[in-house]
Amino acid sequence: MNKSYPITLIPGDGVGPEVTEATRRVLEATGVKFRWETVEVGEYAMKKYGTPLPDSVIASVKRNKIALKGPVTTPIGSGFRSVNVALRKELELYACLRPCRLYAGVPSRYQNVDIVVVRENLEDLYAGVEFERGTPEALQLIKFTADTKRGVIRPDSGISIKAISEFRSKRIVKFAFDYARAYGRRRVTAVHKANIMKFSDGLFLACAREVAGDYPGIEFEDRIIDNMTMQLVQKPAQFDVIVAPNLYGDILSDLCAGLVGGLGIAPGANLGEDMAVFEATHGSAPKYTGLNKVNPMAMMLSGVLMLRYLGEKQAADRLENAIAATIVEGKSVTYDLKPDAPDKAVGTAQVADAVIEKLRSVRPY
Ligand code: NAD
Repeated sequence: MNKSYPITLIPGDGVGPEVTEATRRVLEATGVKFRWETVEVGEYAMKKYGTPLPDSVIASVKRNKIALKGPVTTPIGSGFRSVNVALRKELELYACLRPCRLYAGVPSRYQNVDIVVVRENLEDLYAGVEFERGTPEALQLIKFTADTKRGVIRPDSGISIKAISEFRSKRIVKFAFDYARAYGRRRVTAVHKANIMKFSDGLFLACAREVAGDYPGIEFEDRIIDNMTMQLVQKPAQFDVIVAPNLYGDILSDLCAGLVGGLGIAPGANLGEDMAVFEATHGSAPKYTGLNKVNPMAMMLSGVLMLRYLGEKQAADRLENAIAATIVEGKSVTYDLKPDAPDKAVGTAQVADAVIEKLRSVRPY
């Protein structure tokens, strides 16, 4: 237990610093040792360094191979692209893992939801290949599609390109199956709209079917995205691991978070070949900045994923169990887990105190 892990700590902005601090405290209370290298991104970095994502941040994650990250605001209409998207691209973090598990005591319409969403992180409509309405490039592309008889696009259109590759589709589906195998999951469901987008989603589905053939012990099925959203709302218990291209994966992650009690308890990880950034599904919730109000459990559960990634299984189990025990007790939880008595809710820091208290008494699963 003398080992100390170097971790890049990115508090982010908005509620990021509060949930990150709460998470740092509970992680340290597990007894695992960390050497935190704290770096700034987003609005704070913009003011200080003139860029929302300084090179030194990328260098720090590349050096440490692991980061724990709070949410970062992406101002709509401002010049800078999302720090989150840029970070995933720069570090080739191709897989986004979002477990959605219903803990006892969480207010929800459902029982027994335990879904893991695996989202492709680097391509699809999210890749940022876009053409602004009226620009010569947009008009040229519109002319090209007409000349090649691909279809008529109105000249006053803005265009975003949806590109899906064989390499990245196979890689993400393989990741989903490997995850299923490692964690004893029984089924993988691939999500697409291949009936309409034959060359992008159709390729994704063909790749998924091919990769599935290499994993005979794990069931495989596919669903069209619109049907999938309805099925998830009606009968979520039928799903296990879901694998999807970037945009559907983004939307499904939030939907699944909603099934298990909301963004306040939905963790996540962005994983590459030898690098990982752990962060909650939620954003910077700017209206709650500095109020000691939001739920730090999504970020803490992202910390649990980080502990598992580090091979610290016992600490991960203890921390997850302490969080689960805090939820089920229902005394020291934030407003989102107390919809019927929000005045009895506690703040972000007090949740950390309660989880640390539980860590002293609970046993691993
Ligand atoms: P958001 O997730 O920040 O918040 C939406 C709402 O969800 C909040 O108003 C709040 O009611 C609830 N919520 C979120 N986190 C919560 C928590 N921990 N506990 C309790 N309730 C919580 O989404 P948004 O308002 O659409 O985005 C705000 C900013 O965050 C935007 O700039 C967006 O681009 C950015 N964002 C960043 C990330 C990231 O850093 N990975 C992810 C999503 C959004």
